[in-house]
Amino acid sequence: MEESFVKTIEFIRKLYNKPEGFVALHEPTFSGNEKKYLAECIDSTFVSSVGKFVDEFEIKVANYTGAKKAVVCVNGTNALHLALTMLGVERDTEVITQPLTFIATANAIAYCGAKPVFVDVEKETLGLSPQALRAWLGQNVELKANKAYNIATGRRVSACVPMHTFGHPCKIDEIAEICNEYCIHLIEDAAESLGSFYKEKHTGTFGEIGVLSFNGNKIITTGGGGMLLFNDVDLAAKAKHLTTQAKVPHPWEFVHDEIGYNYRMPNLNAALGLAQIEQIDTFLKSKRQTAQHYNEFFAEIAGISFLNEPANAQSNYWLNCVILASKTERDAFLKYSNENGVMTRPAWTLMNKLPMFSGCTTGNLENAERIEERLVNIPSSVFDSK
Ligand SMILES: *Cc1c(COP(=O)(O)O)cnc(C)c1O
Repeated sequence: MEESFVKTIEFIRKLYNKPEGFVALHEPTFSGNEKKYLAECIDSTFVSSVGKFVDEFEIKVANYTGAKKAVVCVNGTNALHLALTMLGVERDTEVITQPLTFIATANAIAYCGAKPVFVDVEKETLGLSPQALRAWLGQNVELKANKAYNIATGRRVSACVPMHTFGHPCKIDEIAEICNEYCIHLIEDAAESLGSFYKEKHTGTFGEIGVLSFNGNKIITTGGGGMLLFNDVDLAAKAKHLTTQAKVPHPWEFVHDEIGYNYRMPNLNAALGLAQIEQIDTFLKSKRQTAQHYNEFFAEIAGISFLNEPANAQSNYWLNCVILASKTERDAFLKYSNENGVMTRPAWTLMNKLPMFSGCTTGNLENAERIEERLVNIPSSVFDSK
């Protein structure tokens, strides 16, 4: 096995044209109008939460994704929190999500005082499994007056938050159908999947609200930032109001008509975001090429398999994934690659194994456990065209 590790590291170094030094997992690329727009912000003094880049960035992302309206937020985590709150996720309700996700998904549910319920993922998509979702609901939930209740706990099941893991779309149309049948609100955590489409429709536009993240390691970055995607323009207007301390517009009076949040993205960050979204096609092209190189390479490597995009999907290949034969092999590969200056990392520890969420209800998590033990993310940065 040692030999395939050596070959893999050599290949990655060749791919990124870095015979020595450190190869990062995912670095941002700034090869467009970033400096120009940032300078415009400073020259105009509009660096804070009001400014033309905020509006332009929202419009550009809405057009790109096909959402009717997009609303920027300070980060993806608070965008998720706001989405859940807006759809009535209250204290002591339950929210279904997947155990294989970044902590932000589960934390946002916890901010509402709700309890996550962890349902298994699929091996093929790494996202919430429609079969597992249907099975869990069938065994545990009853409908009363168009509301879903967990029979064992008596708590209302208020929402479902699937996630498009590492940019690979889950079977979101099937999940939407099941949520509809059970009268459960659907929020898509599309934080990792800007540029990923399922059946030619952008991820994050299937549910009532979709959430994007523009953190430094995501496919495009605003330094830190997030966005809510809506098909319902009234709901979007409400989100804008809530992110702005629920302030009633007035030239000088301070009147706030409900409890709001200061979740607005500053114009500085939006300027960076606009410059980045202008380059999304170039980024995606580069990432698909990288994925194809990896796919061809790993086809010849014993004991390491590359994860391709699922059927019916076009993935952004945000973070490329390989699967090793066992946890022992995975650990050996992580050690070898990181010690040799090529950054790799394992999947997240499953949410149900973390102390804050260890008491939560779970379904059978066979696939998530298998993936947690064997998956490794390998370098995936865009090639800088400069
Ligand atoms: C990045 C990410 C978020 C949001 O993260 P922020 O850093 O708050 O923007 C949410 N969910 C998932 C799955 C993510 O990867």
